[in-house]
Amino acid sequence: MRAMLLDAPGLQLRAAVVPSPSPGSGQVLLRVRACGICRTDLHVADGELSGAKTPLVLGHEIVGEVVSGEEGAGAFAAGDRVGVPWLAWTCGECRFCRAGRENLCDRARFTGYQVDGGYAEYTVADARFCFRLPEGYSDAEAAPLLCAGLIGHRALRAAGGEAERLGIYGFGAAAHIVAQVARHEGRRIFAFTRSGDVEGQAFARELGAVWAGASTEPPPEPLDAAIIFAPVGALVPAALAAVEKAGVVVCAGIHMSAIPSFPYEILWGERTIRSVANLTRRDGEEFLALAGRVPLQVATETLALEHANEGLDRLRRGQVRGAAVLTPIQPAAG
Ligand SMILES: [Zn+2]
Ligand SMILES: [Zn+2]
Repeated sequence: MRAMLLDAPGLQLRAAVVPSPSPGSGQVLLRVRACGICRTDLHVADGELSGAKTPLVLGHEIVGEVVSGEEGAGAFAAGDRVGVPWLAWTCGECRFCRAGRENLCDRARFTGYQVDGGYAEYTVADARFCFRLPEGYSDAEAAPLLCAGLIGHRALRAAGGEAERLGIYGFGAAAHIVAQVARHEGRRIFAFTRSGDVEGQAFARELGAVWAGASTEPPPEPLDAAIIFAPVGALVPAALAAVEKAGVVVCAGIHMSAIPSFPYEILWGERTIRSVANLTRRDGEEFLALAGRVPLQVATETLALEHANEGLDRLRRGQVRGAAVLTPIQPAAG
């Protein structure tokens, strides 16, 4: 099969032809129909997250078609469309797993990081961690739901049900989906982008943001909560300063540059800073059910598998409108 391989952090991905994977016990073999490019892929490729297997097939927003399943993969049949998320495997035994917090599993393994992901024509996945996908989304549109959408959903819940005035820092794939969910819930969105990113601000307004401006600007009124998707530590004190007493600042990325020191008074007033880590299968089921009920407009830029490096570069430079998605198998004409 064709695959894009990361031989070592810091290198460009290499187009290669490698043996197709064989499913093990409880796994399904999937033909990859679409795979989103997530910012986490950049952190892995750049070596900001250590411990990646090498060579590695990146990609954890996989929409695949079941080719075959091994014993124990009984939930799915050949031809089913399934989604494979970041969470590839959990132990089921540690204190976090037993407490319903498998996102924090001590021994968790992640797709496109410790196990090969979807920047390839085929992949294998543990059937217990695959999701059925809602109708009404093309393969490319469904792919970003699997991480950008899911993590956005978890971050929105962490922001609290009371947060009516919601700040979003970094208006990329996750933000453009969560903004629609938040609006559906009756919240008002204040979008913060890189200074001078007029297009990003216009995109946020198109998706219903009541205000869009530079992350260096204060919002026109205090916020109840803020979600930070951009991997920029300096946004933490900026967001704390923008939220009202009791406000919550949620850091939704897996990696962030160092957070500069800040005066205690911007945390005072029972403000909270927290992170959101990974996902549980329950998050996935909840969010994908929601995506089935609320028609989300998922903006995608599709690229052929061999253009994965270009997609990563575009994401790094902030040039992607919505989500970049690789399409290893082109949909059949007609
Ligand atoms: Zn565990
Ligand atoms: Zn991701």
